[in-house]
Amino acid sequence: MENNNPHNENNQNQEPKTPRTDSPRDRRPNPHRQHNAGQTVNAQGENSQSPNRRPNPNYKPNPNKNQNTEEQNTNNRPNPNRRPNPNYKPNPNKNTEDQNTQSENRPNPNRKPNYNKNNTDQRNTPHDNRPNNRPNPNQTQTPNRNEEGANRGGNKGKSKRKNPTTVNEAMRAALEENNRVKDATMNPWKQINMNAQGKVRFTPLGGLGEIGGNMAVFETETTAIIIDVGMSFPDETMHGVDILVPDFSYLHTLKDKKVFVIITHGHEDHIGAMPYLFKELKFPIYGTPLALAMIENKFNEHGLSADTKYFNFVVLRKQYTIGDMQIEWMHNTHSIIDACSLAIETPAGTIIHTADFKIDHTPVDDYTMDLHRYAYYGSKGVLCLFSDSTNSHNPGFTKSEKVVGKTFDALFDLAKGRVIMSTFSSNVHRIFQAMQRAVKQGRKVCVIGRSMERNVETNRALGFVDIEDKHFIEVHEVPKYADHEILIVTTGSQGETMAALNRMATDEHRHIKLKPSDTVIISASAIPGNEGSVSKLMNKLMKAGVTVRYKEFADIHVSGHAAQEEQKLILRLIQPKFFLPVHGEYNHIAKHAKTAVECGVDERNILLMTDGDQVEITTKYIKKVKTVKSGKTYIDNQNNMTIENDVVLDRQKLAEDGIVNVVAQIAQSNQRIVGKPVVTSHGIVADKEDKNFAKEIEVLLETMMLNMKPEALKDHKNVEEEIRNVVRKHVYRTKKRYPLIIPTIFIV
Ligand SMILES: [Zn+2]
Repeated sequence: MENNNPHNENNQNQEPKTPRTDSPRDRRPNPHRQHNAGQTVNAQGENSQSPNRRPNPNYKPNPNKNQNTEEQNTNNRPNPNRRPNPNYKPNPNKNTEDQNTQSENRPNPNRKPNYNKNNTDQRNTPHDNRPNNRPNPNQTQTPNRNEEGANRGGNKGKSKRKNPTTVNEAMRAALEENNRVKDATMNPWKQINMNAQGKVRFTPLGGLGEIGGNMAVFETETTAIIIDVGMSFPDETMHGVDILVPDFSYLHTLKDKKVFVIITHGHEDHIGAMPYLFKELKFPIYGTPLALAMIENKFNEHGLSADTKYFNFVVLRKQYTIGDMQIEWMHNTHSIIDACSLAIETPAGTIIHTADFKIDHTPVDDYTMDLHRYAYYGSKGVLCLFSDSTNSHNPGFTKSEKVVGKTFDALFDLAKGRVIMSTFSSNVHRIFQAMQRAVKQGRKVCVIGRSMERNVETNRALGFVDIEDKHFIEVHEVPKYADHEILIVTTGSQGETMAALNRMATDEHRHIKLKPSDTVIISASAIPGNEGSVSKLMNKLMKAGVTVRYKEFADIHVSGHAAQEEQKLILRLIQPKFFLPVHGEYNHIAKHAKTAVECGVDERNILLMTDGDQVEITTKYIKKVKTVKSGKTYIDNQNNMTIENDVVLDRQKLAEDGIVNVVAQIAQSNQRIVGKPVVTSHGIVADKEDKNFAKEIEVLLETMMLNMKPEALKDHKNVEEEIRNVVRKHVYRTKKRYPLIIPTIFIV
């Protein structure tokens, strides 16, 4: 398991953070600096652990001696023979020190720094005054203890240690210079022009506090860019809702600025809401050819074909002037082709937005992530990094897409009959890998499923899938070939009921009837929330008697998002001043923040955001300035129309608590109900108890009527409200439910 002890992590973080206090430009002079430089030498000499080592006459006990070394001496080398040192006094500062670092390094979302002060100064103060930077009189004993330990190795009292290294002036100068180089190398952000007066604001409107639905607004004084316009999926309480799109209200407030849409890649959670945005507001759109081609498909479906005139196809490694920003799309590797990160140069400084990425050194098309550009911007100094947090809990590296190809090799070899492969329809490299195996084995390829067919054709048209026409067949041609000559590539890896694979599994597909000799490869993992439907699909496939290849093959699917070591590489290449973990729920971004602290980002320079938060970033600070309206609009896919919030709320109530209908005629004269009220209910009592329930309500109403003031009876609304109260109380008392109650009253 990964190191999940925050204390350890934090202690490790101390070292990389310390050099920062030495910046000549924006930090106050550190009186301990010389000691620090000298310390390295001494510490190294000490650590050489030569048993014959004599005390170094030049050695000065270092008051700043770092905690790690101390811990090594005291904790990491337990010596069973060690006698208590009579001179040893426990260090009273030590605990405080640990506590301090723990609380300091833990990302605190509620933290409210004092921004009135110069932020950098402020950041220095606690460092400089931190107990571990203060000379600690007790620590002078460390060399003593160490010496004892060394001497106890068998030649006790026999020899004095000899320092094998002479540190002369030239060497000391080189060491000092190297420390300066180290500081510059490790903190390139210190080159940022601190006098830059620009301010930028970042406002996520989707994708933070959730997975998917990514959309954010990034603004300068005059320009606003909308970064991605994605959709997300409803949860099971949103009855009849097919997709969710972000609330666009905030975009209507940007009237005074030049506004542009910037697309990073063509995944649904980055472009899926584009047609809905364009029905409300239209702006120039910038993106790579595949991403825009996928938006074009959507525009065509929504009757927005003419809006392709807003398209601007970007070329990689080229800076585009967009308002007062310069934006470069940098190629990255992800589970879709033509995906990019963004380098955004603004009046306040450079911002890097990774967007969705992983670092695949052996991608299927051999086009690796453009780490050179990352390094280029990183070495110039980056003000703020926004980075993908989706997989921030995963230790290590995400495997290369190519390992799935190897798995396919094995599975195709094992398959005697037809191979039916299902994956995400946007993962065209995955699909391509399956097709390559098919071609090699002399199988014809049949693509089934609307989104799959469209994506394959779009990618072929753009030259991303190089499989000749002759290898493809139509679905009705499948029976013409022997089973071992067929590969079917299809949608439905998430168990979607309407998808082709599910229809095959339930024997409802018009053309494809499953056979026991079929091999079904599900090259995907269930997206959170889809586990149930995937499991149901598996049941159906197994019942159908086919061979199912799924999770028992570890490399049947790999993620498209960076794990911790990849996140670290980006953090180290960019080494930004400020860091905003994006794309993920709170736990994902909080974990990513910890990784960033490990990689030397000052914890105070990281903010954990949620949708609707607006942060302001300048060279001096990052802070939350306000909250804007955010949320979701519900969409019904049958008609591509919006479903109003109250409709969804009513559906929730109906589904969870049922409904009671009361129709009654009321005589004002004697405060009685005329005849019998009609009471119908659904989802509250069983049919056979309907009559009893109606009777209960009847009695309640009669009592209620008698207790009402005569003047209250004159108003429909009063009576209806009263009926609601009485029925609500009764149903809650007897059933612990709050149904929808609909009284209809006639006053006579
Ligand atoms: Zn993506």
